[in-house]
Amino acid sequence: MEKTTLKLYNTLSGKVEEFVPLEEGVVRLYTCGPTVYDYAHIGNFRSYVAEDLLKRFLKFLGYKVIHVMNITDVDDKTIKGAREEGVTLREFTRKYEKAFFEDIDTLKLDRADYYPRATEHIPDMIKIIQGLLEKGHAYIKEGSVYFRISSFPEYGKLSKIKPEELKAGVRVEADEYTKEDVRDFALWKAKKEGEPSWPSPFGEGRPGWHIECSAMSMKYLGETLDIHAGGVDNIFPHHENEIAQSEAYTGKPFVRYWFHVQHLIVDGEKMSKSRGNFYTLRDLLAMGFSPRAIRYLLLTTHYRKTLNFTFEALYQATTSLKRITDFLYELETRKFPEGETKEAAEKIEECRRNFTAALADDLNISGGMAAIFELIRWGNRAMEEGKLLRGDAQRARNLLYDLDRVLAVLPERVVEELPEEIMRMIKEREEARKRKDYATADRIRDELFKRGIILEDTKEGTRWKKIKE
Ligand SMILES: [Zn+2]
Repeated sequence: MEKTTLKLYNTLSGKVEEFVPLEEGVVRLYTCGPTVYDYAHIGNFRSYVAEDLLKRFLKFLGYKVIHVMNITDVDDKTIKGAREEGVTLREFTRKYEKAFFEDIDTLKLDRADYYPRATEHIPDMIKIIQGLLEKGHAYIKEGSVYFRISSFPEYGKLSKIKPEELKAGVRVEADEYTKEDVRDFALWKAKKEGEPSWPSPFGEGRPGWHIECSAMSMKYLGETLDIHAGGVDNIFPHHENEIAQSEAYTGKPFVRYWFHVQHLIVDGEKMSKSRGNFYTLRDLLAMGFSPRAIRYLLLTTHYRKTLNFTFEALYQATTSLKRITDFLYELETRKFPEGETKEAAEKIEECRRNFTAALADDLNISGGMAAIFELIRWGNRAMEEGKLLRGDAQRARNLLYDLDRVLAVLPERVVEELPEEIMRMIKEREEARKRKDYATADRIRDELFKRGIILEDTKEGTRWKKIKE
């Protein structure tokens, strides 16, 4: 396969650029992870699934990907949650962390190489804060440490927010009036009564949220990362602050490509608990939707477009996915004449080429899916006309599973193994038919139907199908 160049939109430059990693063949990827104070909602998973598509496609292109995702297990929300439940911060956050890992497995998100917890990297954060203090990029006020934004003239280069606009818009927390400048942000927060705290050279306290991502990304991936990903709501202030503190500390570019995923809305509105349109992954599963259909829906809107989640769209996703699995089912269960054709080989290769080219164009997923459905249309017609041969079917099936390394929406196998009892009934019916005992054959057929199995008698023998998934 010839080498494919991936083009990606880079928020920093505001342009679609050719992606070239720092080290040949290796991609260092950091994705902002969950704050473990609740079950993750479908808006969170929209970002994670889009990032997963990026990661899987990089691997498909042959890159080795080193992936880090942080777990925020100390912040205002986790502290509040633990206090309300009357448990320790650790007990509280571990419960939601466990749920998060169950959810990402349900959605087949490729696991990261590292999931560092903030609370286990406090010394790494302190080291950077000390460095920033020494270089004059930070200052201590009443036990808290703040980053001095006026010391970093490039501040705003990611979000394109000008410093003067910033001054007017910043919301100042009551305990942060001691800052030199309202724009400055906390690197370290002085201990408050009844809150968890850690010792540090600047006094007891806890880290701010932004420093966590700088410390943990640089620890596992080095001072310059290839790709840093997150939702668009992270651009400002979170990622802008990460750039400021990291680059002020190392004097090197922090991230080469910034990848941001647009919002998910529900029925055209912002998702919120008060509107009653708020869904976790678990809510949708409880309603009976399949994880693969949910993943399919989250995956198939381009990551730079707002995804409008509706139940109608989820039903459509279920239907589209079924078209693919029905096609696979035919490929695996029909009896095809021996041989292979040049036309099929060309059609299948064209599908692979078009799929790859579309994804390489800033992850154009619609183009990628169009290539697959084009193959399915052609393949179904060829089957009806009896033109598809055994080798062709095998080749088409292999391609779909190969492309599924990127999509991860297909079931492990389309043809299930039936329980032994059912297999025996199918065999008994065949024997009854052979001796022309149609009454027995029909009785067995009805019995199987009651158990959700449909039989189809074809020229090539009897095939079975499950009525529902
Ligand atoms: Zn982050």
